[in-house]
Amino acid sequence: MVAADRAGPSTLVRIGQTDLLFDCGRAVLMRGVAVGMTARDLAALFVTHMHSDHTTDYNDVITTRWITNTDPRPLQAFGPVGFGKFTDATLAMLENDIHYRMAHHADLPHRPQVTVREVSEGLVWEAGGIRVMAAPTDHSPVHPTVGFRIEAEGKVVTIAGDTVPCAGLASLCRGADVYVQTVIRRQVVEKVPLQRFRDILDYHSDIAQAAQTARAAGVRTLVLNHPVPAPRPGTEPEWIAEAKAHFDGEVLLANDLLKVEA
Ligand SMILES: [Zn+2]
Ligand SMILES: [Zn+2]
Repeated sequence: MVAADRAGPSTLVRIGQTDLLFDCGRAVLMRGVAVGMTARDLAALFVTHMHSDHTTDYNDVITTRWITNTDPRPLQAFGPVGFGKFTDATLAMLENDIHYRMAHHADLPHRPQVTVREVSEGLVWEAGGIRVMAAPTDHSPVHPTVGFRIEAEGKVVTIAGDTVPCAGLASLCRGADVYVQTVIRRQVVEKVPLQRFRDILDYHSDIAQAAQTARAAGVRTLVLNHPVPAPRPGTEPEWIAEAKAHFDGEVLLANDLLKVEA
């Protein structure tokens, strides 16, 4: 949903100087500026699925990285099966812009470069003692989708994306210090008099399910992310309490630029 104070779904995981970006929703680079994240210096981009809210600004990440680097520095991009085709289509969409800029700037002899790897399960990226694992999630009928688990400096962060509880999600969450999960508030969504909106109940974890996943996996901190519908001001404690009914650990409700230490 478009909201004045909420950009689209994106999560930055920063380990030392290494920036790993998970999903690239609306205004991700604007929000990134606030925390010193740039497309130019991203170590890698990971995409959980190709729903538009998670990929709206993929083209912006590609273009901005391209025009702010002097050398071709391919964007390392990871996503589920189909992400390669999605990337090709995104680059095709940018063809006018690519042509304009290369014709205009003598010092821009190269096209934007993206190195895509389609992933489903297991180790997908490793550098400097940081490991990123993927596992399939369940966002049916959207298929395939993946979640990610980042291990570094003895800590674990899980980026679940949009998914209901499933075996892949459980494996990603095991013993995580921080577990970031898209959540819906079921009793609010159920009352919306619009079937198209209520359809989202099919393929998202509600708050209780996220909390149950966190408890079963022995998670330390649960972050209720990408909340649908956007919490009405003043109702935030209700979201937290709903999770706390099923989970003893720390529960945070994400706002833009929420920072969590693992
Ligand atoms: Zn989705
Ligand atoms: Zn979503």
